[in-house]
Formats: sequence, C-alpha cells, structure tokens
Amino acid sequence: AFDVLVVGGGPAGAAAAIYAARKGIRTGVAAERFGGQVLDTMAIENFISVSATDGPKMGAALEQHVKEYDVDIMNLQRAEKLVPAGEPGGLIEIELANGATLKSKTVILSTGARWRQMGVPGEDEYRNKGVAYCPHCDGPLFKGKRVAVIGGGNSGAEAAIDLAGIVSHVTLVEFDGKLRADEVLQRKLRSLPNVDIIVSAQSTEVLGDGQKVTGLVYKDRVDGVMHSLELEGIFVQIGLLPNTEWLKGTLELSPRGEIVIDERGQTSLPGVFAAGDATTVPYKQIVIAMGAGSTAALSAFDHLIRSPVV
Ligand code: FAD
Repeated sequence: AFDVLVVGGGPAGAAAAIYAARKGIRTGVAAERFGGQVLDTMAIENFISVSATDGPKMGAALEQHVKEYDVDIMNLQRAEKLVPAGEPGGLIEIELANGATLKSKTVILSTGARWRQMGVPGEDEYRNKGVAYCPHCDGPLFKGKRVAVIGGGNSGAEAAIDLAGIVSHVTLVEFDGKLRADEVLQRKLRSLPNVDIIVSAQSTEVLGDGQKVTGLVYKDRVDGVMHSLELEGIFVQIGLLPNTEWLKGTLELSPRGEIVIDERGQTSLPGVFAAGDATTVPYKQIVIAMGAGSTAALSAFDHLIRSPVV
C-alpha cells in the first residue's frame, strides 16, 4: 500500500507527489493524462520566474521533475471510485477503470477541471488561435484588439471588466434575455465605454482565416436574424467543470461540484486531501494549483505521523 496516493497528474498532482516523495514515504500518482490542462496551453507567461514557456514544455518538465524521485507513476489510469477507510488509520481504496484497486493510507485528489465549450463550428479549429478560456492567462495576448466574451454570469462579467482594461473593445454575448452576473458587476460593466452587451444571442460559429479568429456569428433569439462581429479573440466563459463526478456522494462537494477543502487541503473525509482546480480554492491557475498540491502533501504527511499504527 502507498502512504500517499495522488489522483491526477497536473500541476497540483505533480507538486503533491514531489513534496510527499521528499518525505521518504511511499508515493504513487495515478493520472488519466499526466500533465493535465497544461498540455492544452500554448503560451504560459505567468509562471513566476519563467517569463515564457509553453504547455508541452511545462508538461514534460513536470513529469521529468517527478521522475527524479521515487514515485510510482501510473499514467493513463482513470479513477472511478473512492472507498473511505473502514477505521481511523485504515487504508483508503481507489478503484481504477481497468479494474485494479490501489490502497493508500492517505489520498490527494487533484483531478482538475475542464472548461465548458460552446460546441460550435470553428471553436476547436481556432482554440489557442483566438479562442481562449482564461482571461488571467491569455488576456494580455489581445492587447489593443477586439474580443467577445461568451457568457453573462459572474465569470463572463468579471472577464469582460478585466479585458476592457487591456483590449480595445469587448462585446459580451449572453444567450439568455438578461445577464446573470451580480448587480455590482453589471453596474461596473455598463459604466465602461469600450464594452457592449448583447443579450438573447446564440453564438453559432467562430470565423477564421485558416490561421486565426476573425469573427463570431450569432443568432438574435428574438427575431432569428443572424449577425456577425469582426474581432480577433473570443473568451468562452460558460463554466469550469471540476472532474469530480466520480466522487459524488463520497465526500463533500460544493453546489458547483468542487471538492470542499479547508486551508490545509483537508476534505470532509479523514486522510483524504485535495488540491487545484478540482477544489473550492479561489482562482484556477498553475502557480496556485502547485502551491495547493504542496500544501495537501504536507498535510497528508502531518496526518500520517499522527495516525494510530494499524
Ligand atoms: P489539471 O491540470 O486539470 O490536471 C488534472 C489531472 O487529473 C490530469 O492529469 C487529468 O488527466 C487527471 N484526472 C482527471 N480526472 C481523473 C480521474 N478520474 N482519474 C485519474 N486522473 C484524472 N494557468 C496559468 O497559470 N497560466 C496560463 O497561461 C494558463 N493557460 C491556460 C490555457 C488553457 C487553454 C487552459 C485550459 C488552462 C490554462 N491555465 C493556465 C489553467 C491551468 O492549466 C490550471 O489552473 C492548472 O492546470 C490546474 O492544475 P490541476 O493540477 O489542478 O488540474
């Protein structure tokens, strides 16, 4: 059995594995895709002390760093069920899709999240070529350009306000008849001279020239008329979905499905910790996920040295 079993091999999981292994305890990582969301990223310019890198490079570096330690890496393995320990200090089980069961004294959940997509033609083709999901990450790439933000909830409104300070013009496109964002955000949004808001609009296509985004087509849901906007960027803000469906009913999740953790990364189950985008941690970023993964590993170690010897 492992002392620490990490489920998920993104920045949070990699950091957790390294911190755990450095304590000299038996550490394993099971990940569906080692590297996580980082692999889908092109430019990374906010990983502090590295002024610019890209996703594949950082993904490879994460794996390389973990491999320098005695960590059992189980890549391409999807966890499907967590069975809590039967008694304090007992073993927690993780059941994998391939039928195997892994046992560990502590578990760190770091299964990350995925952005909900519009599912329209052009979105996949122009991802990272104008279609973006993270304003904190990619906002500066659109300095002085025109962008749309899809989604008028709090994330969409925050993104539009944030981007309005960087880009030349923002069009906020909402499917519903009105924005769902908090009133204070809507007031702020309406006060900005370079933001337009379009409601009752269904985005139907991302336009491009083969290299990059050139526009967005939407349908006015009131009169059915199609319109197109000329622009260089589209930020999709219709939800970040935590990869926690498999944990429902096992431990406490927030209404959005995020694993509820305290400031030490402790979940509602003894011996089970969590870190990164899958959790209630505010702001989903690489440096934040790595810090949280390190916190969770140190908390798991602390838990181990205080556990009854079974
Ligand atoms: P993830 O990176 O999502 O990793 C989750 C891991 O868990 C993966 O290994 C996955 O395969 C695995 N997993 C999921 N479910 C299971 C399961 N059931 N069983 C086993 N394994 C499972 N952040 C920045 O700081 N700067 C940027 O420039 C930046 N740009 C981004 C660009 C894009 C296009 C995207 C999508 C995100 C970007 N981010 C950026 C956000 C950043 O990638 C995330 O905040 C970060 O990767 C979160 O790390 P994580 O380890 O919590 O989760």
